[in-house]
Amino acid sequence: MSQQFDRELLRSLFARALHFRGGRNGMNFSGRTLITLFYEASTRTRLSFERAMLLLGGNCIGTENAKEFSSAVKGESIEDTARVISEYGDVIVLRHTDDYAAAKMAQYASIPVINAGCGRIGQHPTQALTDLFTIEDHRGTINGVNIAVVGDLKNGRTVRSLVYLLGKYEGVKVTFVSPEELRVESDIPEYLTRHGVAYRETDSLAEVIETVDVVYTTRVQRERIEGLEEEKFAYLQRAYRIDAPLAHRMREDAIIMHPLPRNDELDQSVDALPQARYFEQARNGLYIRMALLEYVLAA
Ligand code: ASP
Repeated sequence: MSQQFDRELLRSLFARALHFRGGRNGMNFSGRTLITLFYEASTRTRLSFERAMLLLGGNCIGTENAKEFSSAVKGESIEDTARVISEYGDVIVLRHTDDYAAAKMAQYASIPVINAGCGRIGQHPTQALTDLFTIEDHRGTINGVNIAVVGDLKNGRTVRSLVYLLGKYEGVKVTFVSPEELRVESDIPEYLTRHGVAYRETDSLAEVIETVDVVYTTRVQRERIEGLEEEKFAYLQRAYRIDAPLAHRMREDAIIMHPLPRNDELDQSVDALPQARYFEQARNGLYIRMALLEYVLAA
């Protein structure tokens, strides 16, 4: 989880990510194997992890649909799976519907386990590393960043992970922007208070868009909201939708980020604007994951 990273580790991972982004090689992990175990859908995270391992000279095995194709179907527990697959590779990358799956697997595996997104509150720390790296790359520092975190703050795991990392820096200001139904849960503001980070909440993106350095928006996590009707879904997305006219009100040096995938909350008309950084953010995920795999495998 995000809380496991300290500033020094973040600094060295970001330096390595920059190194890799510059096209330079890292350590060679030829003969080492990455196991991807995905019990939930993924595009960027799984493929970037696999590509990262290949670029580091290693190889990958795994299942992209562990829910159907692994022994989970036959009732095997995470604990047993962890024990068994530890024998087949050198690092496990796990995505799961259970918030605590990565922690459980790490307890029983004899090789490192990386959380690639677990459940609703179980975090998505490698996305947060990517997000933080993208902000630092743009501004030169995380300290002092004024960020609006927007959208489904209740059900989105990337927000929780990102905020937990932001709390490690100085002078950070966070504005949570969401419809009432999707407000951030109390552990997040409580954590910020403990870490002396200024935050506020609003339901109006228009109110803050002109002043912030970063707009970090997210989709409505429809699959996690039981009984969400089409009309309500559309209403929630509209409540904080960003389109080109709204984005034009942002400062020129501000940026828009999104962990992707997007739905209607982020209009394609924004893509051509200089503030749009979400595809670059996704690309950074590859280099961050190379840095993280190198760190874990070299240990
Ligand atoms: N891809 C991210 C995740 O797995 C964000 C999202 O799905 O909205 O949490």
